Amino acid sequence: MENEYIVEAKSGLNITVTKGDLIEIIDIAGQQVVDFFSVNQKNPKEFLSAGVTIDCNESLKVSEGDSLYTNCYNKMFTIIEDDVKEHDLLHPCCRPEMYDFFYKTGKGHSSCLANINESLTEIFDIRKEEITPFNIFMYTKILPNGKISVEPPKSKAGDKIVLLAEMDVLLAVAACSVSESDCNGGECTPIKIVVKN
Ligand SMILES: [Zn+2]
Repeated sequence: MENEYIVEAKSGLNITVTKGDLIEIIDIAGQQVVDFFSVNQKNPKEFLSAGVTIDCNESLKVSEGDSLYTNCYNKMFTIIEDDVKEHDLLHPCCRPEMYDFFYKTGKGHSSCLANINESLTEIFDIRKEEITPFNIFMYTKILPNGKISVEPPKSKAGDKIVLLAEMDVLLAVAACSVSESDCNGGECTPIKIVVKN
């Protein structure tokens, strides 16, 4: 079976997936970041951890063949296909305070933190104060002196990443709301997700 979902620009949604499902995340227009977060369906206290993923892979970057891990050091996903090979594990979800810090645009701004929390609370009674998701297609250049620079994503229209679910999870994802920087190439656009089982 195959189910298709559209994450509208600057919005989020949740999707229930089962161990063994393939999750295709497709950048419809190109240069759009997806804040990808998830929790274990059977134990919402176990969730996708960018920090543990960096630790287990001994790398700041992940691509084909690498896995994404939970706060409990269990495999949550494995990357099966990756057209872009530039994703971010460093940045927390955008939030009004971030928009104020950099751009003074926080008031009433949509944000990935709010969109993902909305998706989580629809299913579980949980809300996270901070989330560092797997920022799919986000291109963070890491310089030799440790500085980081957010560059326009390398994803072109139709590019995708395919993840294998290694456990039963609730996905909570957002099409990132930043139009103030190069993060989404200056324009926010929708994302397509196809779940195959
Ligand atoms: Zn965002």
